Amino acid sequence: MRAVNEPIKTDVLIIGAGPCGLFAVFELGLLDMKTHVIDILDKVGGQCAELYPEKPIYDIPGIPYVTGHGLSEALMEQIKPFNPVFHLGEMVESIEKIGEPLFRVRTDAGKLFETKIVVVAAGGGSFQPKRPPVPGIEAYEGTSVFYAVRRMDAFRDKRLLIVGGGDSALDWTLNLQPIAKHVTLMHRRDQFRAAPDSVNKMKALVAEGKVDFKLGQVTALAGDGGQLTMAHAKPDKGEPYTVACDALLPFFGLTMKLGPVADWGIKMEDDLIPVDTAAFETNIPGIFAIGDINTYPGKLKLILCGFHEGALMAQKAYHYVFPDKRLVFQYTTSSTSLQKKLGVS
Ligand SMILES: Cc1cc2nc3c(=O)[nH]c(=O)nc-3n(C[C@H](O)[C@H](O)[C@H](O)COP(=O)(O)OP(=O)(O)OC[C@H]3O[C@@H](n4cnc5c(N)ncnc54)[C@H](O)[C@@H]3O)c2cc1C
Repeated sequence: MRAVNEPIKTDVLIIGAGPCGLFAVFELGLLDMKTHVIDILDKVGGQCAELYPEKPIYDIPGIPYVTGHGLSEALMEQIKPFNPVFHLGEMVESIEKIGEPLFRVRTDAGKLFETKIVVVAAGGGSFQPKRPPVPGIEAYEGTSVFYAVRRMDAFRDKRLLIVGGGDSALDWTLNLQPIAKHVTLMHRRDQFRAAPDSVNKMKALVAEGKVDFKLGQVTALAGDGGQLTMAHAKPDKGEPYTVACDALLPFFGLTMKLGPVADWGIKMEDDLIPVDTAAFETNIPGIFAIGDINTYPGKLKLILCGFHEGALMAQKAYHYVFPDKRLVFQYTTSSTSLQKKLGVS
């Protein structure tokens, strides 16, 4: 068993489970490299899953039409034979060089990794929750204001004010209502972007008196020492009012910010990582950057380009991971050894 704080050892650590990070697992796996994948989001697929799950993509080679969600699912199916280990809901905070090449990587959950290769597939950076424009909200963040639910039990027997009209706000209203002392859902309008089924369930709970629904926006918070006791709110039309609450959960969507990538000591240009086009390696040997996060002459932020980058990256990574082995180029159509790895022969 791994002792607490003993690093998880791996050949390759991929930062970002967007389409390019996922396909990199495949290319690395074909060459026998074991991968761990970290993503801040609680799901895989990056922008495809978070920003446009139901929108069609028409320019994936050989697939005339696929949705963002469909592509994420298909990539997960494709990489299954390589058993990548996912660490979702965690953000990589720091990378430290400890060998030639060997890196120590730390997440915000305190997890440590020791890896020969780092593949930065961080896209546009980290998805961060949009903070509502409520004066002084920072003083309550992490104690009474939460932008994600990591552990439902933390909200047991609490008076919750959930704000928003999308899937997250509605899903958490439905999921937390049975364990919370009281749930108030607040939204600016009486129309919701969430799935109709969730909206109907929420309305049924309101009709049964199990959830309060309020029209309006939070304007101020009241409490002491980071502990919230009350939110002041105002509807578009009508009088201001207050909601007694122990916790506020605003769900206003996510925005992309570069996040800690800029602090890893990798050379950056305009918030992107310059790479060579032979192997998509950064200025630090052993650290590669693929997908939307990298830049080079002629770069196109397209998924198919990130796939190509992953294939070439894996060829160079192999020489670091297996310095004494010769790499023989093979096709999946004709190589029985590759087919064995894929579990098809
Ligand atoms: C609306 C829309 C439509 C699009 N349509 C198309 C299209 O039709 N065809 C096409 O080719 N492209 C399209 N794109 C672009 C395409 O989605 C991107 O090129 C692609 O998602 C890039 O993939 P990626 O893996 O590089 O990064 P991303 O998909 O951005 O994934 C990066 C992941 O890294 C994670 N991450 C970042 N920093 C950290 C950190 N410090 N620790 C842990 N995790 C981290 C993020 O949470 C994210 O999940 C579209 C984009 C949008 C927004």
